[in-house]
Amino acid sequence: MAYLSLKDINKIYPNGFHAVHNFNLEIEQGEFIVFVGPSGCGKSTTLRMIAGLENISKGEFYIDGKYANEMRPRERGVAMVFQSYALYPHLSVYDNLAFGLSLQGIDEDVIEERVLATAKILGLSDYLDRKPRALSGGQRQRVAVGRAIIRKVGIFLMDEPLSNLDAKQRVTMRSEITDIHRKVGSTTIYVTHDQTEAMTMADRIVVMKDGYIQQVGNPYELYFKPVNLFVAGFIGEPPMNFVRATVNDGCVEIAGEKHDLSLVVGERINEYNGKDIMFGFRPEAISLAEVENSFKLSADVELTELLGDNTNVYVDMMGDKVILKVDPHDTPKMDTRISYCVPHKNVYLFDAETETVINKYE
Ligand code: ATP
Repeated sequence: MAYLSLKDINKIYPNGFHAVHNFNLEIEQGEFIVFVGPSGCGKSTTLRMIAGLENISKGEFYIDGKYANEMRPRERGVAMVFQSYALYPHLSVYDNLAFGLSLQGIDEDVIEERVLATAKILGLSDYLDRKPRALSGGQRQRVAVGRAIIRKVGIFLMDEPLSNLDAKQRVTMRSEITDIHRKVGSTTIYVTHDQTEAMTMADRIVVMKDGYIQQVGNPYELYFKPVNLFVAGFIGEPPMNFVRATVNDGCVEIAGEKHDLSLVVGERINEYNGKDIMFGFRPEAISLAEVENSFKLSADVELTELLGDNTNVYVDMMGDKVILKVDPHDTPKMDTRISYCVPHKNVYLFDAETETVINKYE
């Protein structure tokens, strides 16, 4: 059995709201798992059930093979880092780090050793005498992480730990947290609504929506093999483009031109004759130059955003709005008409009714 095992976990709050449905997941020791999804999808609720802060309404939870539904939080060997750092303002960094250990009655010598070692891992050695108010947001967050790792527990649970930081600090802390994870090796479950954090930090990502798991996979699988429209649209920035179209004789009409979808999914497309599909492609998966085995599309340029490493081009295709990511040196002029190619291999087709992917999931 995996280190953490969640079997058909459900959460129904006392007011009757069913926040988490049949959540199944096996987590290996040392894995870095990210729960990601929009606000209200049930990620914090799931994390809090793992921590023992919420009871599990239905299902079974095991830690290292032991039935853990009824285990008290402190018996579970978990440390939690919250969005609010929850530091003691009147205590120095040293004492903030030492606090939990002092409560456990651990020897001062051992505490000192662990505080110094933890501060070293986190780059806080020069700040041990400071009070939290004299630290930057990133440093405070590091102290909060330090208070978790100093306890040497097997499981770290982090709920949006970077959301109080500015964009630059978030990028730095992202790599610091993955680095700490590499050094400490604890099993980590990290909750965020930010797909970039999920993509950059996770061994495996769990995408949730409306209390249901949508897909579990490593960042590559989620990006290149999304199982449905939601995952395809949620992972990736700018998001995947979707154009709705009706299949006729295996073809769809997009911006007034016909395209043969059997080139993407073979004869199977005929099962969709008369039905609506979503034609999807990522902004970067296009070419302004002509390429073989591609669909050629035309569009009117409405806006361009030069970002430095690339330009986002916002185009209109007879009512369908699409974003194209192009080399900044190829930035087209606004209010012009352009053509671009989407290679067949870069096209994702989704059933418009069930929203499941038709191709690309093997
Ligand atoms: P966020 O990113 O906004 O924190 P989340 O994905 O973590 O969202 P949860 O906090 O797990 O979402 O909440 C899931 C759903 O359960 C939400 O619709 C929320 O309103 C509801 N919920 C949370 N706590 C309770 C409660 N104590 N009683 C009833 N419903 C609750």
